[in-house]
Amino acid sequence: MTDLGSAPAKFRAIDVIRHKRDGLELNHDEIEGLVHAYTVGDVPDYQVSAWLMAVVLRGMTRGETAALTEAMLHSGEVLDLSSMPQKKVDKHSTGGVGDKTSLVLAPLVAAAGIAVPMISGRGLGHTGGTLDKLEAIPGFNVNLPVAEFRRVLETCGCAMVGQTPEIAPADRKLYALRDVTGTVESPYLICASIMSKKLAEGIDALLLDVKTGSGAFMKKEKDAAFLAELMVETGERMGKQVVALITDMDQPLGKMIGNALEVMEVVEILRGHGPEDLRELCLHLAGWMLQLGGVSNTVAEGTQLSTQLISSGKALEKFKQMIELQGGDSGVIDDASRLSQAKSRADVFSPTAGFVASMQCEQIGTACVILGGGRERKEDSVDPAVGIVLHKKVGDPVSAQEPLATIHYNSPPRAQEAARLISRSIQVGDAVPAKRPLIHRVIQKSGDQR
Ligand code: URA
Repeated sequence: MTDLGSAPAKFRAIDVIRHKRDGLELNHDEIEGLVHAYTVGDVPDYQVSAWLMAVVLRGMTRGETAALTEAMLHSGEVLDLSSMPQKKVDKHSTGGVGDKTSLVLAPLVAAAGIAVPMISGRGLGHTGGTLDKLEAIPGFNVNLPVAEFRRVLETCGCAMVGQTPEIAPADRKLYALRDVTGTVESPYLICASIMSKKLAEGIDALLLDVKTGSGAFMKKEKDAAFLAELMVETGERMGKQVVALITDMDQPLGKMIGNALEVMEVVEILRGHGPEDLRELCLHLAGWMLQLGGVSNTVAEGTQLSTQLISSGKALEKFKQMIELQGGDSGVIDDASRLSQAKSRADVFSPTAGFVASMQCEQIGTACVILGGGRERKEDSVDPAVGIVLHKKVGDPVSAQEPLATIHYNSPPRAQEAARLISRSIQVGDAVPAKRPLIHRVIQKSGDQR
């Protein structure tokens, strides 16, 4: 008989797909094998898409989630920033519509003396992405090699990049695939995606902004709380201090939705103006980051210091410095016309008088994707100029035929479709609706809530 030797078993993606489809618990090697094979290009998109859908439908155990997070984290380099004396703190949002808080927080918190090494993502599903927003600034480079990322961080205290071939490359590929295969809405996949990027950053502490409401991936507060606990537990297991806030995403945050428009609103906030909800959330998140970074004793103290850093102009100055260090045109701060502008605008009117009763926030995010502000296929490019400016927020009074929103567009057929979606998404009623809180809950340690 021929001696067949003892070659290691060949990794077979089909087995891992079948196991997950049939509801079996995957072992560490299966998960690690799949993530590795996909990262190096040995498994095609269609097999990983099937596996992702099986995960969405079947879920994962805590052990599988930890194994997935670790495999994605170790698909690349884990930064060692221990040579930097200051605390390193980051924040990450689970994704929303009009959520541009990262662009405000990185420079604001850096202005307080905390290092913010931020690795972000692109738009996902109906939600916007920090990287797409940053790229609306002409020249801004989100693809810095690790050495350059470190140099920017050391020079100005914050740097904002995407996953690179060096840092969390598995998330880079999986994220893009999930975006176009209807496989975003799984707490296990969201947890592994966020925590693998964040744990690769070499941070001491992490603030998570877990969104809930009609524009969030976790529409129900109980699902958002489950995701928050999963991420807090995963971070703690890896020795990091992690706090999660559950915040409202039942309507877009601020008034601008769309990449260049959102950069304009960030500048407004850093100048001490801008919409109240966005300003309040940014200051509160900054307060938490300052407390986690040991710069202030309490969140309230941190919020107060953040308000001062905005009014003194120091936070805006940091934003300018970061833009320049990452190759961007900081002239956009004083001259918004240097950002891409859409060719045309059209208003969406209120059919009746009354009060804005509610918004289908996901549909408004989808309208922005339809305009070209997000991706429908992996290879799509994003149009930085298009988007939506809301003139009314939930609870605002409105007259008949008053504009509810203005669409900034480059393609008339897309604008028509977006306008139809927006007018269906904003309900006007007779009564002032009950106000939802901006911050729903804080989850600090596994199971510890306030
Ligand atoms: N943000 C991420 O980085 N990943 C997700 O899966 C969702 C939001």
